[in-house]
Amino acid sequence: MEQRGVYIDGGESMRDAYYEVTHKYSGAVLAEVAEASDDVIEQAVAGAQDAFRRPITVNDRAEILERAAQILERDQEAVARLIAQEAGKPIKDARVEVTRGQLTLRYSALAARTLHGMEIPIRGNPGAQSRIAVTIRKPYGVVLAITPFNFPLNLVLHKVGPALAAGNTVVLKPAPATPLTALNIARVFTEAGLPPGHLQVVTGSNPDVGAKLVRDPRVRLVTFTGSATVGQIIRSQAGLRPVLLELGNNSANIVHEDADLDLAARTLALRAFGFAGQVCVSVQRIYVHRLIYDAFLSRLQAVVAKLAVGDPEDDATDVGPMISETAAERAFDWYQESLRQGARAVVPSQREGLFVRPSLLVDVAPSMRVMSEEVFAPLAGVVPYNNFAEALAWANDSRYGLQAGVFTQRLDLAWQAIQTLEVGGVIVNDSSAYRADNMPYGGVKDSGLGREGPEFAVEEMTYPTVGVFNLPVQ
Ligand code: NAD
Repeated sequence: MEQRGVYIDGGESMRDAYYEVTHKYSGAVLAEVAEASDDVIEQAVAGAQDAFRRPITVNDRAEILERAAQILERDQEAVARLIAQEAGKPIKDARVEVTRGQLTLRYSALAARTLHGMEIPIRGNPGAQSRIAVTIRKPYGVVLAITPFNFPLNLVLHKVGPALAAGNTVVLKPAPATPLTALNIARVFTEAGLPPGHLQVVTGSNPDVGAKLVRDPRVRLVTFTGSATVGQIIRSQAGLRPVLLELGNNSANIVHEDADLDLAARTLALRAFGFAGQVCVSVQRIYVHRLIYDAFLSRLQAVVAKLAVGDPEDDATDVGPMISETAAERAFDWYQESLRQGARAVVPSQREGLFVRPSLLVDVAPSMRVMSEEVFAPLAGVVPYNNFAEALAWANDSRYGLQAGVFTQRLDLAWQAIQTLEVGGVIVNDSSAYRADNMPYGGVKDSGLGREGPEFAVEEMTYPTVGVFNLPVQ
């Protein structure tokens, strides 16, 4: 059995205790991965702090990030297969993730090269004729990155890339279910020329590992992607240190009467059920204008019926297993609960082990958990509306606010949606799940704080120092 250690100071180091990481479809053990002890946590943070005292030039940082992108490109298929195995992500989606990961690294390299402060116009102040003020942006130091299972490559790179670009060092705590992709990233960076200590990977199956790292005062900034529940715990423990939080959503998508119904049905079906709905911006609540409700629903049902459920390593698969038995059980419970509360499944679900069959629910009420909470499973509710303002109000009736989708040909309605929806991103004629890796990405309300996207994350992961020069000409 392959054993994988925590990655500290440029290499993997083996430990006494391990936990098993499984293939999410076959159940086979892929590797035994180290359980980080308190010693390891100490070593990882101390090493990252030391490394911060050995800064890398901006040009070198950019070159390392560019080389890491090239290595990922070279290893594309192997990395995608590893994601399919440890996360259960359909291989076609895993391949897209690897391609996006390269782009995230390339944009991080660009963000390193273009990182800049500004001149502040203070000379107009009384008596300040001889003064000049400029800001520079400085890295915080040790950044703690805690990541979820669902994008084990690209969401890690959205933290590691900008953090390194900005000149920070990183301690990464990947999700317990998907540490192998993260350990592989550490190897990629070492091959790309990143000196020891600048990226440490601390693995473990216990939430305590992350919690201890958060409490370590040598960590100067925490960047977290995961559930709102854990996000709130981290925020409360971080004290006065900056915290970036990318949390959940119960994404609303609106299909207006003038929408291209085939486009909407195809897109929403794929983005509600692809990767078994385990995407933070997965389509969950679908609001459809009453005039086209029946026509749209039958199209949507037809697409859902054709989705291929099965082995994530099969090229044809659209919907693979969920991440764990517990996750599948929880999702199916919520589904059954909604039926008991009066919902009707026009496409019924079924559970078998880690598999939950995609389901479309109608007659859903806003109070049902499948509508009010983040379902994070292949379940979506469809609701008819009478006018656009009503649809916008329902979309906003959520504790979350990450992204929303709107299908309409009318520019005025699209603009109204962008202005009205309380979310970090409104996607017109595509679903809530669209993300370009260089756009600002993040939420409001319980969906989090701060923005990712390398240029924006670098801004968040640096602080300005203003230098004021008083230079009277003699
Ligand atoms: P999770 O919150 O259970 O775990 C995320 C990470 O936090 C893991 O590494 C976990 O080990 C760690 N953790 C757990 N308890 C901790 C604690 N007390 N202190 C410190 N770390 C702790 O999330 P998950 O199940 O891995 O991922 C699914 C969630 O992530 C969903 O809610 C989803 O919406 C969200 N997500 C958000 C985005 C985004 O960009 N907004 C992207 C992907 C996933």
